[in-house]
Amino acid sequence: MDLQYCEKFGYDKSKVNERLALVGLSDADHTTAGRIQQEVIVPRFNAIVDLFFDQLLKISDARQMLHSDELLSAERKNQSRFLLSLGMGFDSLSYFEDRLRVGVAHSAAGLPISLYICSFQLLIQSIIENFPDTLRNNIDDYRTFTRFLMKISTLDMSLAIDTCFINQLKSFEQSLDGMQVLASHLEKHAVTDSLTGMVNHEHVFSELQQAIVKTQAEQAPLCIVMADIDHFKSVNDNHGHLAGDGVLKEVASRIKNSLRGFDIVGRYGGEEFLLILNRADLQTARMVAERIRSRIAATPIDLPETLLDVTISMGVAMVKPDEDVNSLVERADKALYNAKENGRNQVALAE
Ligand code: GH3
Ligand code: MG
Ligand code: MG
Repeated sequence: MDLQYCEKFGYDKSKVNERLALVGLSDADHTTAGRIQQEVIVPRFNAIVDLFFDQLLKISDARQMLHSDELLSAERKNQSRFLLSLGMGFDSLSYFEDRLRVGVAHSAAGLPISLYICSFQLLIQSIIENFPDTLRNNIDDYRTFTRFLMKISTLDMSLAIDTCFINQLKSFEQSLDGMQVLASHLEKHAVTDSLTGMVNHEHVFSELQQAIVKTQAEQAPLCIVMADIDHFKSVNDNHGHLAGDGVLKEVASRIKNSLRGFDIVGRYGGEEFLLILNRADLQTARMVAERIRSRIAATPIDLPETLLDVTISMGVAMVKPDEDVNSLVERADKALYNAKENGRNQVALAE
């Protein structure tokens, strides 16, 4: 027999025995289980099922769940099967498998645990109501039978609750995972510029603030490069905004691919990029900037309808001792302005 639910919920022989001991079921109860089937359930089967559904449908939650004839007749079949197997071979893995499967089906259908417990109680009551007079008049048998019914329903109920609980825990875990994915997505989204995939203005600016503090503590050099695409407005004007976006993406990608792993670059403005070159002095930064400039100028950008020659201008500045972020950016901007004034497609150093 396939024991997929036992496996799923971790039931092996030893856990089965543990659960049986917990609810107080022992070998002696097999005899009672057989007698209840023979003396009560089989002879009074229809009466028990009718009484059970009469009582169950008085509960509005149950009426809502069993709102069509189809659902009702399917549930009648389930209950009949459940009843005819009640307690039969309760210490076997296959009994546990069957009860877990029923629990999973009900919890998947959205049955609230309170209704589950309530219906167990109704089922047991319906059985007791249908005890034959011979049983009612024999106090020992009556006690043995009712005690057994309490124990077996506690076992069945505990298995159903396990499935509900574990399923809920699983779906809780899944929604937690989903929340984490969403949170990291939102976090990424908050710092990423969607067009270029680079970090955005706020993020690169705050990275720069941190880099300045760090570099001043370590007394290592730090340079920034402000880069701006030349005559970018005319790309938009002559080839359309989409072509402009394509140029931005390609320039961004060439810049990223020219940097070392520990450098940082962000989209600072429309067609402006800020590069943070950690542990680079002015000469190193100038070389890096020059390499990027020439890589962009050397190969025209391949757009769907045209090949475009694109150039960029750059201003490089090295942080001075005790200089703040605004002053550093201002100096790099001024150098960039000079590069533009001197004819564009070039790198200028700040004083
Ligand atoms: P300069 O050489 O002096 O830098 O001239 P320029 O034309 O590049 O500079 P200007 O600041 O006049 O134009 C920048 C243009 O960039 C204007 C704006 O419409 C465009 N732009 C800004 N963001 C985007 C964008 O995301 N996509 C596109 N396609 N264009 C953008
Ligand atoms: Mg420009
Ligand atoms: Mg600009």
